[in-house]
Amino acid sequence: MKKYNFYAGPSILSQYTIKNTADAVMDFAGTGLSILEISHRSKEFVAVMEETQAMVKELLDVPAGYEVLFLGGGASLQFCMVPFNLLKKKAAYLETGTWAVNAIKEAKLFGEVDVVASSKEANFNYIPKGYEIPDDVDYFHFTSNNTIFGTEIRKDPDVKVRLVSDMSSDIFSRPIDVSKYDIIYAGAQKNLAPAGVTLVIVREDALGNVERAIPTMLDYRTHIKKGSMFNTPPCLPIYSALQTLKYYKSLGGVAALEKMNEEKAAILYDEIDRNKLFKGTAAVEDRSIMNVCFVMNDEYKELESEFVEFAKGKGMIGIKGHRSVGGFRASIYNAMTKEGVEALIATMKEFEKAH
Ligand SMILES: *Cc1c(COP(=O)(O)O)cnc(C)c1O
Repeated sequence: MKKYNFYAGPSILSQYTIKNTADAVMDFAGTGLSILEISHRSKEFVAVMEETQAMVKELLDVPAGYEVLFLGGGASLQFCMVPFNLLKKKAAYLETGTWAVNAIKEAKLFGEVDVVASSKEANFNYIPKGYEIPDDVDYFHFTSNNTIFGTEIRKDPDVKVRLVSDMSSDIFSRPIDVSKYDIIYAGAQKNLAPAGVTLVIVREDALGNVERAIPTMLDYRTHIKKGSMFNTPPCLPIYSALQTLKYYKSLGGVAALEKMNEEKAAILYDEIDRNKLFKGTAAVEDRSIMNVCFVMNDEYKELESEFVEFAKGKGMIGIKGHRSVGGFRASIYNAMTKEGVEALIATMKEFEKAH
Protein backbone atom coordinates (compact mmCIF):
# COMPACT_ATOMS: atom_id res chain seq x y z
CA MET A 1 0.00 0.00 0.00
CA LYS A 2 1.16 3.54 -0.75
CA LYS A 3 2.15 5.37 2.42
CA TYR A 4 1.52 9.06 2.94
CA ASN A 5 3.90 10.69 5.39
CA PHE A 6 2.27 13.40 7.53
CA TYR A 7 4.90 13.40 10.29
CA ALA A 8 5.82 16.83 11.70
CA GLY A 9 9.59 16.27 11.72
CA PRO A 10 11.64 14.52 10.67
CA SER A 11 9.20 14.50 7.85
CA ILE A 12 8.52 13.81 4.23
CA LEU A 13 11.29 14.41 1.70
CA SER A 14 10.95 14.36 -2.05
CA GLN A 15 11.59 11.06 -3.80
CA TYR A 16 14.23 12.94 -5.79
CA THR A 17 16.08 13.75 -2.54
CA ILE A 18 15.81 10.23 -1.19
CA LYS A 19 16.83 8.50 -4.41
CA ASN A 20 19.84 10.75 -5.08
CA THR A 21 20.96 10.49 -1.45
CA ALA A 22 20.72 6.70 -1.62
CA ASP A 23 22.78 6.71 -4.84
CA ALA A 24 25.46 8.88 -3.20
CA VAL A 25 25.59 6.53 -0.22
CA MET A 26 26.66 3.83 -2.69
CA ASP A 27 28.84 5.96 -4.97
CA PHE A 28 29.34 9.66 -4.41
CA ALA A 29 30.06 11.81 -7.49
CA GLY A 30 31.78 8.96 -9.32
CA THR A 31 34.48 8.70 -6.65
CA GLY A 32 33.79 5.02 -5.99
CA LEU A 33 33.38 6.00 -2.32
CA SER A 34 30.26 6.59 -0.25
CA ILE A 35 29.19 10.09 0.80
CA LEU A 36 29.27 8.55 4.30
CA GLU A 37 33.03 8.04 4.24
CA ILE A 38 34.48 10.80 2.13
CA SER A 39 36.55 13.68 3.52
CA HIS A 40 34.70 16.93 3.90
CA ARG A 41 37.86 18.51 2.50
CA SER A 42 37.70 16.50 -0.72
CA LYS A 43 37.14 18.63 -3.79
CA GLU A 44 33.91 16.72 -4.47
CA PHE A 45 32.41 17.57 -1.09
CA VAL A 46 33.69 21.14 -1.12
CA ALA A 47 31.80 21.50 -4.39
CA VAL A 48 28.62 20.21 -2.72
CA MET A 49 28.96 22.73 0.12
CA GLU A 50 29.51 25.61 -2.27
CA GLU A 51 26.67 24.62 -4.55
CA THR A 52 24.27 24.18 -1.63
CA GLN A 53 25.08 27.66 -0.33
CA ALA A 54 24.64 29.08 -3.82
CA MET A 55 21.31 27.31 -4.27
CA VAL A 56 19.97 28.75 -0.98
CA LYS A 57 21.02 32.21 -2.15
CA GLU A 58 19.40 31.70 -5.52
CA LEU A 59 16.09 30.27 -4.27
CA LEU A 60 15.61 32.81 -1.48
CA ASP A 61 17.12 35.68 -3.44
CA VAL A 62 19.62 36.39 -0.66
CA PRO A 63 21.16 39.85 -1.13
CA ALA A 64 24.83 40.76 -0.79
CA GLY A 65 26.10 41.13 2.76
CA TYR A 66 24.57 37.85 3.94
CA GLU A 67 26.24 34.50 4.57
CA VAL A 68 24.66 31.06 4.34
CA LEU A 69 25.85 28.59 6.98
CA PHE A 70 25.25 24.91 7.65
CA LEU A 71 25.71 24.17 11.34
CA GLY A 72 25.13 21.37 13.81
CA GLY A 73 23.11 21.48 17.00
CA GLY A 74 19.63 21.84 15.53
CA ALA A 75 17.40 24.88 15.66
CA SER A 76 17.56 24.52 19.44
CA LEU A 77 21.22 25.55 19.49
CA GLN A 78 20.25 28.73 17.66
CA PHE A 79 18.01 29.62 20.62
CA CYS A 80 21.25 30.29 22.52
CA MET A 81 23.56 31.21 19.64
CA VAL A 82 21.37 34.13 18.55
CA PRO A 83 21.45 35.93 21.93
CA PHE A 84 25.09 34.96 22.46
CA ASN A 85 25.98 36.87 19.30
CA LEU A 86 23.38 39.66 19.24
CA LEU A 87 21.99 40.40 22.69
CA LYS A 88 23.72 43.29 24.41
CA LYS A 89 21.09 44.39 26.89
CA LYS A 90 17.54 43.65 25.85
CA ALA A 91 15.71 41.69 23.17
CA ALA A 92 12.04 41.46 22.19
CA TYR A 93 10.36 38.10 21.60
CA LEU A 94 6.95 37.10 20.35
CA GLU A 95 5.61 34.12 22.29
CA THR A 96 3.57 32.03 19.88
CA GLY A 97 4.33 28.44 20.85
CA THR A 98 6.58 25.89 22.46
CA TRP A 99 9.60 26.72 20.29
CA ALA A 100 9.25 30.42 21.03
CA VAL A 101 9.05 29.59 24.76
CA ASN A 102 12.28 27.61 24.46
CA ALA A 103 13.98 30.46 22.59
CA ILE A 104 12.89 32.96 25.25
CA LYS A 105 14.26 30.76 28.03
CA GLU A 106 17.72 30.74 26.44
CA ALA A 107 17.74 34.47 25.67
CA LYS A 108 17.10 35.21 29.36
CA LEU A 109 20.54 33.75 30.10
CA PHE A 110 22.09 36.64 28.20
CA GLY A 111 20.03 39.70 29.06
CA GLU A 112 16.63 41.20 29.50
CA VAL A 113 13.80 39.73 27.44
CA ASP A 114 10.70 41.73 26.62
CA VAL A 115 7.93 39.32 25.63
CA VAL A 116 5.97 41.82 23.53
CA ALA A 117 2.91 39.60 23.17
CA SER A 118 1.83 36.05 23.87
CA SER A 119 -1.04 33.73 22.98
CA LYS A 120 -0.16 31.33 25.77
CA GLU A 121 -3.48 31.93 27.56
CA ALA A 122 -5.28 30.40 24.56
CA ASN A 123 -2.90 27.45 24.18
CA PHE A 124 -1.21 29.34 21.34
CA ASN A 125 -4.14 28.94 18.95
CA TYR A 126 -3.64 32.37 17.37
CA ILE A 127 -0.94 34.92 16.52
CA PRO A 128 -1.05 38.06 18.69
CA LYS A 129 -1.45 41.29 16.72
CA GLY A 130 -1.13 45.00 17.37
CA TYR A 131 1.83 44.68 19.74
CA GLU A 132 4.60 47.23 19.89
CA ILE A 133 8.29 46.57 19.68
CA PRO A 134 10.36 49.02 21.76
CA ASP A 135 13.04 50.93 19.81
CA ASP A 136 15.73 50.18 22.35
CA VAL A 137 15.92 46.39 21.89
CA ASP A 138 18.85 44.71 20.18
CA TYR A 139 16.54 42.58 18.06
CA PHE A 140 13.05 41.16 17.68
CA HIS A 141 12.66 37.38 17.46
CA PHE A 142 9.65 35.46 16.19
CA THR A 143 8.78 31.94 15.07
CA SER A 144 7.33 32.15 11.56
CA ASN A 145 5.49 28.84 11.73
CA ASN A 146 4.36 27.22 14.95
CA THR A 147 4.79 23.57 14.07
CA ILE A 148 2.93 22.24 17.10
CA PHE A 149 -0.04 24.62 17.10
CA GLY A 150 -0.55 25.13 13.36
CA THR A 151 -0.33 28.91 13.23
CA GLU A 152 1.86 30.87 10.88
CA ILE A 153 3.06 34.40 10.16
CA ARG A 154 3.30 34.54 6.40
CA LYS A 155 4.19 38.16 5.98
CA ASP A 156 7.71 39.41 6.69
CA PRO A 157 7.21 41.93 9.49
CA ASP A 158 8.29 45.55 9.15
CA VAL A 159 10.25 46.50 12.24
CA LYS A 160 12.70 49.24 13.13
CA VAL A 161 15.09 46.93 14.99
CA ARG A 162 17.13 43.92 13.93
CA LEU A 163 14.92 41.00 12.98
CA VAL A 164 15.52 37.31 13.76
CA SER A 165 13.27 34.42 12.80
CA ASP A 166 13.05 30.71 13.50
CA MET A 167 11.79 29.42 10.15
CA SER A 168 12.43 25.75 10.87
CA SER A 169 9.09 24.51 9.62
CA ASP A 170 8.25 26.87 6.78
CA ILE A 171 11.48 27.92 5.12
CA PHE A 172 11.26 27.52 1.32
CA SER A 173 7.45 27.34 1.54
CA ARG A 174 7.11 30.88 0.19
CA PRO A 175 9.25 33.77 -1.02
CA ILE A 176 10.73 35.85 1.80
CA ASP A 177 12.34 39.26 1.80
CA VAL A 178 15.68 38.30 3.32
CA SER A 179 16.80 41.94 3.39
CA LYS A 180 14.38 42.56 6.28
CA TYR A 181 16.14 39.99 8.46
CA ASP A 182 19.43 39.83 10.31
CA ILE A 183 19.31 36.13 11.14
CA ILE A 184 17.07 33.41 9.75
CA TYR A 185 17.58 29.88 11.02
CA ALA A 186 15.95 26.57 10.30
CA GLY A 187 16.52 23.01 11.42
CA ALA A 188 16.65 20.98 8.21
CA GLN A 189 14.34 18.15 9.15
CA LYS A 190 11.07 19.75 8.06
CA ASN A 191 11.43 21.24 4.62
CA LEU A 192 14.98 20.49 3.58
CA ALA A 193 16.90 17.38 4.59
CA PRO A 194 17.24 14.61 7.13
CA ALA A 195 17.96 15.75 10.71
CA GLY A 196 21.47 16.85 11.59
CA VAL A 197 22.02 20.20 9.93
CA THR A 198 20.69 23.70 10.56
CA LEU A 199 20.54 26.36 7.89
CA VAL A 200 21.48 29.84 9.07
CA ILE A 201 21.31 32.97 6.94
CA VAL A 202 23.09 35.80 8.70
CA ARG A 203 23.69 39.41 7.88
CA GLU A 204 27.36 40.00 8.50
CA ASP A 205 27.07 43.51 9.86
CA ALA A 206 24.76 42.28 12.63
CA LEU A 207 27.76 40.54 14.18
CA GLY A 208 30.62 41.79 16.32
CA ASN A 209 28.53 44.23 18.37
CA VAL A 210 28.52 42.40 21.70
CA GLU A 211 31.23 42.70 24.33
CA ARG A 212 31.09 39.23 25.81
CA ALA A 213 33.52 36.47 24.87
CA ILE A 214 31.86 33.97 22.57
CA PRO A 215 33.08 30.36 22.49
CA THR A 216 34.64 29.66 19.10
CA MET A 217 32.04 27.15 17.98
CA LEU A 218 29.15 29.43 18.98
CA ASP A 219 30.48 32.47 17.17
CA TYR A 220 28.88 32.86 13.73
CA ARG A 221 32.04 34.60 12.52
CA THR A 222 34.04 31.39 13.00
CA HIS A 223 31.78 29.57 10.58
CA ILE A 224 31.60 32.45 8.14
CA LYS A 225 35.37 32.66 8.00
CA LYS A 226 35.66 28.93 7.32
CA GLY A 227 32.70 28.54 4.97
CA SER A 228 30.90 26.18 7.40
CA MET A 229 34.02 23.99 7.41
CA PHE A 230 35.58 25.09 10.72
CA ASN A 231 34.89 21.59 11.96
CA THR A 232 33.41 18.57 10.22
CA PRO A 233 30.01 19.56 8.84
CA PRO A 234 27.11 17.10 8.63
CA CYS A 235 28.02 15.96 5.11
CA LEU A 236 25.12 13.65 4.37
CA PRO A 237 22.29 16.01 5.38
CA ILE A 238 23.98 18.79 3.40
CA TYR A 239 24.13 16.56 0.34
CA SER A 240 20.42 15.77 0.78
CA ALA A 241 19.65 19.47 1.21
CA LEU A 242 21.28 20.14 -2.14
CA GLN A 243 19.06 17.55 -3.78
CA THR A 244 15.96 19.08 -2.21
CA LEU A 245 16.95 22.55 -3.37
CA LYS A 246 17.53 21.31 -6.93
CA TYR A 247 14.12 19.70 -6.79
CA TYR A 248 12.53 22.95 -5.57
CA LYS A 249 14.20 24.80 -8.42
CA SER A 250 12.85 22.28 -10.94
CA LEU A 251 9.33 22.93 -9.62
CA GLY A 252 9.70 26.65 -10.27
CA GLY A 253 11.22 27.87 -7.02
CA VAL A 254 9.60 29.17 -3.85
CA ALA A 255 6.90 31.21 -5.59
CA ALA A 256 5.63 28.08 -7.32
CA LEU A 257 5.90 26.15 -4.05
CA GLU A 258 3.86 28.77 -2.25
CA LYS A 259 1.07 28.41 -4.80
CA MET A 260 1.07 24.63 -4.41
CA ASN A 261 1.18 24.89 -0.61
CA GLU A 262 -1.72 27.34 -0.52
CA GLU A 263 -3.76 25.05 -2.73
CA LYS A 264 -3.05 21.96 -0.64
CA ALA A 265 -3.83 23.76 2.61
CA ALA A 266 -7.02 25.31 1.23
CA ILE A 267 -8.58 22.01 0.18
CA LEU A 268 -7.69 20.37 3.48
CA TYR A 269 -9.05 23.22 5.62
CA ASP A 270 -12.19 23.27 3.45
CA GLU A 271 -12.76 19.62 4.28
CA ILE A 272 -12.13 20.18 8.00
CA ASP A 273 -14.68 23.02 7.97
CA ARG A 274 -17.21 21.00 5.96
CA ASN A 275 -16.90 17.58 7.63
CA LYS A 276 -19.29 17.16 10.59
CA LEU A 277 -16.74 15.15 12.57
CA PHE A 278 -13.87 17.63 12.61
CA LYS A 279 -12.96 21.20 13.51
CA GLY A 280 -9.77 23.21 13.16
CA THR A 281 -7.91 24.38 16.28
CA ALA A 282 -6.08 27.47 14.98
CA ALA A 283 -7.67 30.88 14.42
CA VAL A 284 -8.81 30.92 10.79
CA GLU A 285 -6.76 33.98 9.80
CA ASP A 286 -3.57 32.49 11.27
CA ARG A 287 -3.84 28.97 9.86
CA SER A 288 -0.55 27.43 8.83
CA ILE A 289 -0.11 26.11 5.31
CA MET A 290 2.48 23.63 6.63
CA ASN A 291 0.96 22.05 9.76
CA VAL A 292 -2.80 21.58 9.72
CA CYS A 293 -4.14 20.96 13.24
CA PHE A 294 -7.66 19.69 13.85
CA VAL A 295 -9.67 17.77 16.41
CA MET A 296 -12.91 15.81 16.56
CA ASN A 297 -16.01 17.90 17.21
CA ASP A 298 -17.07 17.52 20.86
CA GLU A 299 -19.91 15.05 20.16
CA TYR A 300 -17.51 12.72 18.32
CA LYS A 301 -14.56 12.99 20.73
CA GLU A 302 -14.57 9.25 21.50
CA LEU A 303 -13.78 8.50 17.83
CA GLU A 304 -10.35 10.10 17.99
CA SER A 305 -8.10 7.06 18.31
CA GLU A 306 -10.38 5.14 15.95
CA PHE A 307 -9.76 7.74 13.25
CA VAL A 308 -5.98 7.55 13.71
CA GLU A 309 -6.18 3.77 13.23
CA PHE A 310 -8.60 4.07 10.31
CA ALA A 311 -6.30 6.55 8.60
CA LYS A 312 -3.30 4.32 9.23
CA GLY A 313 -5.19 1.53 7.51
CA LYS A 314 -5.42 3.79 4.47
CA GLY A 315 -1.68 4.48 4.51
CA MET A 316 -1.88 7.85 6.33
CA ILE A 317 1.07 7.92 8.72
CA GLY A 318 1.85 10.44 11.43
CA ILE A 319 -1.44 12.33 11.76
CA LYS A 320 -1.71 12.06 15.53
CA GLY A 321 -1.58 15.57 16.97
CA HIS A 322 1.12 16.78 19.34
CA ARG A 323 0.25 15.95 22.96
CA SER A 324 -0.10 19.62 23.86
CA VAL A 325 -2.96 20.09 21.36
CA GLY A 326 -4.36 16.58 20.97
CA GLY A 327 -6.41 15.47 18.00
CA PHE A 328 -4.67 15.43 14.67
CA ARG A 329 -1.96 17.22 12.78
CA ALA A 330 -1.36 16.75 9.11
CA SER A 331 2.02 18.19 8.20
CA ILE A 332 1.87 19.01 4.53
CA TYR A 333 5.36 20.31 3.87
CA ASN A 334 6.67 21.14 0.40
CA ALA A 335 7.30 17.49 -0.46
CA MET A 336 3.71 16.44 0.26
CA THR A 337 1.86 16.19 -3.03
CA LYS A 338 -1.64 17.43 -3.68
CA GLU A 339 -2.51 13.81 -4.37
CA GLY A 340 -1.43 12.94 -0.81
CA VAL A 341 -3.66 15.66 0.64
CA GLU A 342 -6.54 14.46 -1.54
CA ALA A 343 -6.01 10.95 -0.21
CA LEU A 344 -6.32 12.26 3.34
CA ILE A 345 -9.47 14.17 2.44
CA ALA A 346 -10.98 11.03 0.90
CA THR A 347 -10.16 9.18 4.14
CA MET A 348 -11.89 11.86 6.22
CA LYS A 349 -14.98 11.69 4.00
CA GLU A 350 -15.08 7.91 4.21
CA PHE A 351 -14.78 8.00 7.99
CA GLU A 352 -17.61 10.55 8.16
CA LYS A 353 -19.88 8.30 6.07
CA ALA A 354 -19.26 5.41 8.45
CA HIS A 355 -20.41 7.47 11.47
C1 LIG B 1 11.33 21.40 15.02
C2 LIG B 1 11.46 22.81 15.41
C3 LIG B 1 12.49 23.25 16.25
C4 LIG B 1 13.48 22.31 16.91
O1 LIG B 1 14.42 21.91 16.01
P1 LIG B 1 15.66 21.00 16.48
O2 LIG B 1 16.44 20.93 15.22
O3 LIG B 1 15.09 19.69 16.92
O4 LIG B 1 16.37 21.70 17.57
C5 LIG B 1 12.57 24.60 16.52
N1 LIG B 1 11.70 25.47 16.00
C6 LIG B 1 10.70 25.09 15.19
C7 LIG B 1 9.76 26.10 14.63
C8 LIG B 1 10.55 23.74 14.87
O5 LIG B 1 9.55 23.35 14.07
